Amino acid sequence: MIATLKKYFGFDSFRPMQKEVVTHVMQGKDALVLMPTGGGKSICYQLPALLAEGTTLVISPLISLMKDQVDALRANGIEAAAMNSSNTDTSNLLIRRACMEHRLKLLYISPERLMMDAEKWLQHIDISLIAVDEAHCISQWGHDFRPEYTQLGILHELFPQVPILALTATADKITRSDIIEQLKLKDPKVFVASFDRPNLSLTVKRGYQTREKHRVILNFISRHPGESGIIYCLSRNNTEHVAAMLRLHGISSAIYHAGLSNELREKAQNDFINDRVQVVCATIAFGMGIDKSNVRWIIHYNMPKSIENYYQEIGRAGRDGLPSDTLLFYSAADYIMLKKFAEESGQRESNLEKLRRMEQYAEADVCRRRILLNYFGENIASDCHNCDVCQNPPQRFDGTIIVQKALSAVARTDEQVAMGTVIDILRGSFSPEVREKNYDRLKTFGVGRDIPGRDWYDYMLQMLQLGYFEIAYNDNNHLKLTTSGKDVLYGRSKAQLVTIVREEVLPKKRGRKQKVTTQTAFIPKANASDLFDALRALRKRLAEEEMMPAYIVMSDKVLHNLVLARPTTLEAFGNVSGIGEYKKRKYGQAFVELIQQFE
Ligand code: ADP
Ligand code: ZN
Repeated sequence: MIATLKKYFGFDSFRPMQKEVVTHVMQGKDALVLMPTGGGKSICYQLPALLAEGTTLVISPLISLMKDQVDALRANGIEAAAMNSSNTDTSNLLIRRACMEHRLKLLYISPERLMMDAEKWLQHIDISLIAVDEAHCISQWGHDFRPEYTQLGILHELFPQVPILALTATADKITRSDIIEQLKLKDPKVFVASFDRPNLSLTVKRGYQTREKHRVILNFISRHPGESGIIYCLSRNNTEHVAAMLRLHGISSAIYHAGLSNELREKAQNDFINDRVQVVCATIAFGMGIDKSNVRWIIHYNMPKSIENYYQEIGRAGRDGLPSDTLLFYSAADYIMLKKFAEESGQRESNLEKLRRMEQYAEADVCRRRILLNYFGENIASDCHNCDVCQNPPQRFDGTIIVQKALSAVARTDEQVAMGTVIDILRGSFSPEVREKNYDRLKTFGVGRDIPGRDWYDYMLQMLQLGYFEIAYNDNNHLKLTTSGKDVLYGRSKAQLVTIVREEVLPKKRGRKQKVTTQTAFIPKANASDLFDALRALRKRLAEEEMMPAYIVMSDKVLHNLVLARPTTLEAFGNVSGIGEYKKRKYGQAFVELIQQFE
């Protein structure tokens, strides 16, 4: 097993759980594998495919995913193909022949195609294993239900001798048992890997308004020069605004949302995959179909509606295991909108509960990773030291007077104003509503001038979370005081607020961009980052020649390994982790020559 792993993929050892899964399916048994994104699910069926006689069928829901996987396998010298609605009759014929002649190790196939052909030629080839990727798609309880998947229940009947391996990155307990039931898995073993992704840093920023968000985003991206990232937004409008803002600052970015034509969406995706744009500003619809391993950062421009969504989206960063950064903005406006969605949704109770858990995460004052993993039923023994709470634990102070000022403004308007107007009153701003309703005559008008508006948004959100007021969604989002709010207002109890820490925005650098990335730990030698850049340029050239995404030619991780090992012989090149025999033969010469120039 290890020899084959090394030969084809260039890896020296297994990731957690891979060996156990491979051993299990090699014994012809069924299994369900739960592994986080980037955990290494593919090896679980690709290695058995190489070790066994015949062809392994891989059922996958998306054409783009199939293509990516097939490209990556071929780049390692493994015979693989995909069969789906985008194929011509001729290519299908060639694939069929390759299967009959035992030449194809892996066949990726759409569920529709599989059902069409299951009782035809597929009966006459030697199938070693059936892998059902993204298996949660079979369940109505999951978040990506695909009706085509429900027919897969008949697989065991059609191919009684073939083991079935179901794999997914997201499945709660109900979805798990649903997958097993619907696929009619026989006495399956369930493998659950840890969902921890220690290479992802976690940061949340509360209560920022648009302009400050944009400044922080630019600052953040300047710390990731040339590195790919995704900005998730709640609305199409936001994706467009953010992308325009980035372009204005010379950062190439594409947009992706459900309102665009298929063509435009595909172009955005391809430009991103092939490193022609650095950033994609997307609604949640983006990402499912891509395997890009060198996404280095994720920003949530708005708060997602559940921890499942959030974890899946940040999971798209750092699949290669290298340090990657995630940043979540969390504002009162998002909260109001999401709450309204949840209130009006079909499954009101459960959606509100999911949102509540998401808020608790955003408001955390203990290690954020602990909260996330705990949500997925896992406990870790110690704090992670890679989240903002671990690094800068929130400080609290007696904020009673601040809270009283705000709540008194609410009370004096007879609870007839929304949050923005409360802040206008506190700040003494003559907004149209303030003028019209004569709020400038209130005693509280201008009492909060000493605190900037952006900080008021933060404090108001804290007060909301502390339960001092509620938002009446059915009454123009007006604020209504609660009993505990009144207790503070009338001096019956005190209020603790969290000290606001604003991020220092780096002054703009002139001339050559300076690299300040989290990856410096991986680049120990003096001219290492130049070497890395040179390797990256070579990779890009090779990728363009082959019309292939750069990360398929070689992942960022492999490039870093090359910088560390600096192989100047073909032999040494082949020993670098992530270089299999095929890539050694194909690319070794070019890379070794380049490295020699640096030595
Ligand atoms: P998943 O499908 O679970 O999201 P992948 O199968 O795409 O994950 O693997 C994620 C990354 O981990 C890939 O870049 C892959 O090359 C790498 N990887 C997988 N298994 C190993 C291993 N045993 N050693 C080193 N890297 C691995
Ligand atoms: Zn932590």
